[in-house]
This record gives sequence, C-alpha cells and structure tokens, in this order.
Amino acid sequence: QHNVKLLNMSAAPTRRSSTSKNDVDDTMESIPSPIKPTQDALPLPLPKELAKYKHKDFEISTTLGTGTFGRVKLAQHLQTGIFYAIKIMIKSEIIRLNQLSHVQSEIDVLMRIEHPFIVKMTGFYQTSDNLCIVTEYVEGGELFSLLREQTRFPIETVRLYSSQVLLAIEYLHSMGLIHRDVKPENILLTRSGYLKLVDFGFCKLVEDRTWTLCGTPEYIAPEVITGKGHGRGVDYWAFGILDFEMLAGYPPFFAKDPFGIYDKILKGDVTFPRHFDAKIKNLIENLLQNDITRRFGCMKNGVMDIKMDTWYSTINWDAIYNLRIDNQPYSPKVEGEGDTSNFDSYADEIEDVTVPLNDEDSKLFQVFYEMMKVGLGE
Ligand code: AMP
Repeated sequence: QHNVKLLNMSAAPTRRSSTSKNDVDDTMESIPSPIKPTQDALPLPLPKELAKYKHKDFEISTTLGTGTFGRVKLAQHLQTGIFYAIKIMIKSEIIRLNQLSHVQSEIDVLMRIEHPFIVKMTGFYQTSDNLCIVTEYVEGGELFSLLREQTRFPIETVRLYSSQVLLAIEYLHSMGLIHRDVKPENILLTRSGYLKLVDFGFCKLVEDRTWTLCGTPEYIAPEVITGKGHGRGVDYWAFGILDFEMLAGYPPFFAKDPFGIYDKILKGDVTFPRHFDAKIKNLIENLLQNDITRRFGCMKNGVMDIKMDTWYSTINWDAIYNLRIDNQPYSPKVEGEGDTSNFDSYADEIEDVTVPLNDEDSKLFQVFYEMMKVGLGE
C-alpha cells in the first residue's frame, strides 16, 4: 500500500513542458520562406476586431507562467486599468527553435475563435526583441496547481471539468482545428470556477493528417510517437489522459524520461486505481484506444459517442455551455483585480536573455507582423 502511494506521488509530476520536434512544421517547407498568407489558409470566420496595443500602453508586472520562448506576465492597461495576461515571446528564441510557423498559427487561430471555455485574445504587438500576445487574464490559476493541491478530484468535479474541456475540443474540431497540447497546465480556472483552455502554440488547421511530433510526453497519442500521421484523434487521446489524471492524481503512463513514457504509451497497458467506477473506466478505455478507428471521438458519430456516453448521462450540455453550473465544485479565492495569488511564484528578477536579430530575421518578423495585422483592421 505504502509503495503504491509513493509510486503514485512520484508519478504526479511537476509542471510539464511541451515539446516539439526541433524543425519546421510539416506544412512549412522551410523557414524563413515561405511565410504563408493566412487569410486564405484558414477557412474560419474573419478575425474579430483586435485592439491596437503598444508596449508602453501597459504596466507589466508578475510572471504568471513560463512557455517555450518566453513568459506570460500580468499587465495592466494604463488607460483603462484592465488587467491582461501578456505572452511575451523572445524573437531570437523563436528563430533559434525554428518555431515561427507555430507562433503564426497561434495568433492566427486566436484571432478567429471565440468560445466560453477558450481564452480570448484581445490583441498582439511587437517590440524589437519580443512578440506579444495579449489575452484576458484568467485569475483562478492552473487546473494543474489545483489538482496537485487536492491530490485528486472527486468524481462529480471530474465530470463537470471534463465536460467543459470536451466542449472546447468539440468547438475547435468543428473549425477544423486540433489543439495538440491539452493538459492540466493549459487549463485555467476563472474567478467563477469555469475552465478556459490556453496555449494555442501547437494548434493547427488540419484537413486530414499532420506529422509534427509535438505535445507533452505524458499526453502524446501513440500515432504521434510512431509518426504515421495524426489528426483530431490526438485531442481525444489527451482528453482520456486528462480524465484519468484528474481522477487518479497522476497520469496513466509515466516514467523518468520521455522515451520510457513513449514505450508505455505504445504498449498501452493502463492500470486503473480501484476507486475508478466501471463507467469511467469504460470511457477512458475507449478514449485510450490505440486503434484510432475504434477510439471514441474518431468514429462515425464523432464526439457524440463521448457526449452520449452513460458517464455523462447527468450532464446538461446546454447548461454547461451557457455557464449555468449552480454548484461549482471550487471557486478560486480572488482578492480584487490583478490578484496573482493563485499562480506559482517565478523569479522575476532573472531577465530573459535576448539576442539581437540580424537584418534577415528582423525582416522576417516584419513580414510576419504585416501578415498578421489583418485582425487589427489596418
Ligand atoms: P502558455 O505559454 O500559453 O502555455 O502559458 C504558460 C502559462 O502562463 C500557463 O500555463 C498559465 O499558467 C499562464 N497563462 C497563460 N495564459 C494565461 C492567461 N490568459 N491568464 C492567466 N495565466 C495565463
């Protein structure tokens, strides 16, 4: 018993970083060229009107979280007093890691989507060193922190939380988008206890299949590891891992290093804790299905196989969508606007290192920025 507990504790990892094969994305032949015009590329609604921000419009303060090439910081808009979260990405790091196509995709997608369980972007801007995405500030902290604090969630909490994530995934898929990095670190709690999916760095418009290895090891689907091409099924796999982790307090496949994790994912043996009930075990087994032709979410009824599953029989999907949950399982403590107490502390005094861009790379960002300005109405 004691050993199992220890094992499970070590399986509940600290914040996990996303990973992406350090090369160009599958749809991009090479970087710097071509940067594709995105207006035609995304058959999505036209961008909403975005704010025309400048860096000096904000007072930037605490770090809320860290990403692959920069930090997300709390910022107060000086003119209106409104707080935002600004993802401040370092241009030289984007170039070094060859991730411009993912950044382009992130802004492009955020510009065009709107959903109650997805973070809202209000604008973006650039400085000589940084590319900055401004989003609403989601004050309640990461679902990840709450889960580690509570060890594991009660079954009703998991039902409510997973139903919100499922609606967000369903919406993205209806737009032809796959998120590719669903995990508790990328799910935030609002002041009133609802969830918001963040981090669209790997989100991609995919008609059929794509090939880039990206995601977070514990949440990566087997078809991504084998490199046979993957589609929207990866989000349903990650959704199954998320359900398991919320209920168990640790993910189903864990090891010391990513290769150990991938090995276990490919073997596909899931050991369910005894407290899992038969219905959720059954649903998770259908989501963590190696064969995507048999995975829930990927068959002819699509997401309805999940929404209509008996595990969700008590869920009123319309009420969830319309934010009509009467008894929230958890309401974050938020003391006034701009409170960051629900987020981990980061060493703010250590400045991120930026390397000056050469002329070619600067020009690249200029072209990129011009292309993305469509939402700014310029
Ligand atoms: P990202 O690079 O988008 O994955 O963000 C890194 C971390 O920053 C997240 O895991 C959150 O902890 C935090 N974060 C991102 N967006 C927001 C937001 N809109 N409001 C509050 N915190 C955020």
